[in-house]
Amino acid sequence: MQQFQQYIDGAFSDGAAQFESLDPATGKPWALMPEARAGDVSRAVEAAERAFHAPEWAGMTASQRGKLLLRLADLVAENASRLAELETRDTGKIIRETSAQIAYVAEYYRYYAGLADKIEGAHLPIDKPDMEVWLRREPIGVVAAVVPWNSQLFLSAVKIGPALAAGCTVVLKASEDGPAPMLEFARIFDQVGFPPGVLDVITGFGPECGSVLTSHPKVAHVAFTGGPATARHIVRNSAENLASTSLELGGKSPFIVFEDADLDSAVNAQVSGIFAATGQSCVAGSRLVVQNTIKEEFLSRLKVKAENVVMGAPQDMETEVGPLCTQRQRENALSLIDASIAQGARLITGGTALDRDGFYFPPTIIDCSGAPDAPCVTNEFFGPVLSVLGFDTEAEALEIANNTEFGLASGLFTRDLTRAHRMIRGIRSGIVWVNTYRAVSPIVPFGGHGLSGHGREGGLQAALDYTKVKAVWLRTSDDPVPDPFVMR
Ligand code: NAD
Repeated sequence: MQQFQQYIDGAFSDGAAQFESLDPATGKPWALMPEARAGDVSRAVEAAERAFHAPEWAGMTASQRGKLLLRLADLVAENASRLAELETRDTGKIIRETSAQIAYVAEYYRYYAGLADKIEGAHLPIDKPDMEVWLRREPIGVVAAVVPWNSQLFLSAVKIGPALAAGCTVVLKASEDGPAPMLEFARIFDQVGFPPGVLDVITGFGPECGSVLTSHPKVAHVAFTGGPATARHIVRNSAENLASTSLELGGKSPFIVFEDADLDSAVNAQVSGIFAATGQSCVAGSRLVVQNTIKEEFLSRLKVKAENVVMGAPQDMETEVGPLCTQRQRENALSLIDASIAQGARLITGGTALDRDGFYFPPTIIDCSGAPDAPCVTNEFFGPVLSVLGFDTEAEALEIANNTEFGLASGLFTRDLTRAHRMIRGIRSGIVWVNTYRAVSPIVPFGGHGLSGHGREGGLQAALDYTKVKAVWLRTSDDPVPDPFVMR
């Protein structure tokens, strides 16, 4: 079996223990991963803390940091196919998607490379004579970055990129499910020439590794992507170190289709919105909210697409839907579907486990119009399952769209411009895609509210979020400071 190592203080080592990683396409172990426990976590944080203060990093100019990030971007691009193969092997995400996504990950590092020397302070027009006041933007310190298994290279780039651009150091905890691409990324990072400890990459389990990391007294900020239940642990952990947090959590994003929409476009976007990444995507458009006048036609077109999806080995370029990452995901999908059918939801296609090795689950469409409060409508699946609700009026569409505890993304398909603007204003989500879905860019902030979390990744603000403001007061008068006890 292939063996991987963790990366601490610029060196590769074994963890306190090892665990097996399963190939989701077969359900069998294929690699041994280093399991970090408390001692490894502390070594990583200490290394990041030393690196944060060391002159090699703290004294580096912002432009130099940018140049290193550019070099990292180039190396990620050069090694994209190797990273993609590893991510596909370890997580089951299909090779078509990992190849395209990782090539684009390089653009995130390029974007933050360019921002490194544009993180500016400010000069204030102070209301006192003989005084100059300005604000310095300084890096916040050691960042603990915790990511889930899906798209780890992407989800870590939106943390590592802005954090290093700002001058922070980072301890990244890769998910225990499919950590191979992140551990390999550490080998690429090691070639760039950053001082040791600036980035440390470990993996391990929640209680023994993630919890120790996010409550560590030397951690200043926790950048977390994962589910809301884990996010609650993170917030509790931050009561220990009083670290700031940014939380990118799940979603139950509405995909709203009006009768005047271009249906060909809407069908394609919905298929990509829910079946791409085998539905294991935080922005999955998993609640179809469709006008009743076109509902049956729309569903019959979707059904044809869902039933003709090419399911297969994730390594095969022809495959359109691969396995889920874990057995746990498959069990979760089955139990939510069963509970929803018991409450009156109607299965249109899919919904049952496939009789084959690996963690495969078929594209599924379930009409919940008769059961609008079913678990299929309220819970995040993280699988290729689309729940459907019909509406008659615009007001009803908006009410259904907003009837969720999440608030990450939404899709809107209509050709009516004024209606589009009214809907955009009314929808409660961090992203609204109109007549498109899933578009992302390093230039655009990404994030949600409610159970989808807080904070934004991507864009200029994300780099500023890795800084703290220092207010500097400088007295310009040569007169002595007056004696405070002499009355004038
Ligand atoms: P998860 O919350 O179970 O795990 C995420 C990470 O947290 C893992 O690395 C895990 O080891 C770690 N962790 C677990 N317990 C911990 C603890 N007590 N303290 C610290 N760390 C701990 O998430 P998952 O099941 O791996 O991923 C799926 C979730 O991620 C979904 O809800 C999905 O929507 C969300 N997600 C969100 C985004 C986004 O950008 N908004 C992107 C991708 C995934």
